[in-house]
Amino acid sequence: MNYNQRKKEICKAGRLTLPDEFCNVARIRKGSLVEFFINDDNALIIRRFGPKCVFCGRMGELRAYKGKKVCVECIIDIKKRHA
Ligand SMILES: [Zn+2]
Repeated sequence: MNYNQRKKEICKAGRLTLPDEFCNVARIRKGSLVEFFINDDNALIIRRFGPKCVFCGRMGELRAYKGKKVCVECIIDIKKRHA
């Protein structure tokens, strides 16, 4: 999903300030941890750091199963495939 693409200048010290609207959509609060990486399209991805589903990587509503976190969507998908 592209959410209002913008251009921002990286300061001489290499810092980038994230626009408030991006933080609000991504539910990133000031002072919270983020993780960043480069995907296969060479796009820099910055996202809120936290527990993720072991299957799809979503950070929404997670349930624990045998010590692993699984999202509700994957639980529903697994149930459908193995019903
Ligand atoms: Zn999942």
